[in-house]
Amino acid sequence: MTNSRDLFSKFDALIAEREALLATGVRDPFAIVMDEVKSPTLAVIKGKDTILLGTYNYMGMTFDPDVVAAGKKALDDFGAGTTGSRVLNGTYQGHREVEDALKEFYGTSSAMVFSTGYQANLGMISTLAGKGDYVVLDADSHASIYDGCFLGDAEIVRFRHNSVEDLNKRLGRLPADALKLVVLEGVYSMLGDVAPLPQMVAAVRSHENCMILVDEAHGMGFFGAHGRGVYEEQGVEKDVDFVVGTFSKSVGTVGGFCVSNHPKFEILRLVCRPYVFTASLPPSVVATAATSIRKLMHAGEKRAHLWKNSQRLHKGLTDLGFTLGTKEPQSAIIAVILTDQAQAVAMWQTLLELGLYVNMARPPATPAGTFLLRCSLCAEHSDEQVGQIIGIFEAAGRAVGVIA
Ligand code: PMP
Repeated sequence: MTNSRDLFSKFDALIAEREALLATGVRDPFAIVMDEVKSPTLAVIKGKDTILLGTYNYMGMTFDPDVVAAGKKALDDFGAGTTGSRVLNGTYQGHREVEDALKEFYGTSSAMVFSTGYQANLGMISTLAGKGDYVVLDADSHASIYDGCFLGDAEIVRFRHNSVEDLNKRLGRLPADALKLVVLEGVYSMLGDVAPLPQMVAAVRSHENCMILVDEAHGMGFFGAHGRGVYEEQGVEKDVDFVVGTFSKSVGTVGGFCVSNHPKFEILRLVCRPYVFTASLPPSVVATAATSIRKLMHAGEKRAHLWKNSQRLHKGLTDLGFTLGTKEPQSAIIAVILTDQAQAVAMWQTLLELGLYVNMARPPATPAGTFLLRCSLCAEHSDEQVGQIIGIFEAAGRAVGVIA
């Protein structure tokens, strides 16, 4: 049975690679269990207190007392789930409230909440760009962006990561009368680098029939005067047609959304399959999200501390001799580049044994075949913790031979 060819045969190479890796005695990097979570920055993994440096809890909202209280109250008042789609029985007062909070946060006329950020991209891209339309996207785009193209059956045109010149060139080759959706991300989550949005927007606007969608999954909360994202910080708010985001990072819960000022936006609620054909978020989740979003409107101090943490860690790791994804810190993500899988796994495991959790990423998720340890900082990491993190990297880097 197991040896015969069937639909699982295509995974044989991956199964063999994984078995070979585990046979070397390393811990399974994709089977970590948080036995207890003490705070946004501290969990117990296999009985050991571990600093979390691999979450997307950028603003540390998961344990905010107001956020938690709002979730508990909604659970009591509205029950555990909606058991239905947004367009049928699944729109409660709380779904309206979180959409109102988003409209206020982003200053837009419309907001549509999905069950995840993945579904927000899937839904927006597939519904906006169909057969015969073009989606022009950065080659390093998130999987949900690619999957949105596949679902909608649009033509995919990739341009070189963050290259304004290549974006312009590829747009120039498309038929002028064809409808195009250009999808950009504010922060690219693998290397933690930021897109040059003003130059990109200018390039797009020099071509006809283009709309622009920016995914601010990793920019919300941290960038811009109102925390809207990189597109706000870089001053291109008026040029962006759609902003997609998630509740699973700075907001601290789960869910996804799109905001827009387009006058026909509301029709999407009836035609967007990943919105219509799935259950809506539980009342407790939308209540925590709404409370968190409203608090993020006044999170200047947290933002400043997060930025300080990012700069300090970037400098600390650079001074130790690690190779990082960006020369300067550009976001709350700092990627440590390693030579191969063996080195990445050894380093990851040593960090874990010393009490530090980071995310490991490998091809195909990573750009240009790189093996990365991705560190993502939190506004709640204390100065002391950032010092400990740098110390643990130094010890692990020496033990594994990544640094001298
Ligand atoms: N877009 C980007 C750029 C992301 O990094 C992610 C998640 N890592 C998503 C969308 C999907 O978000 P969610 O976790 O809410 O599905």
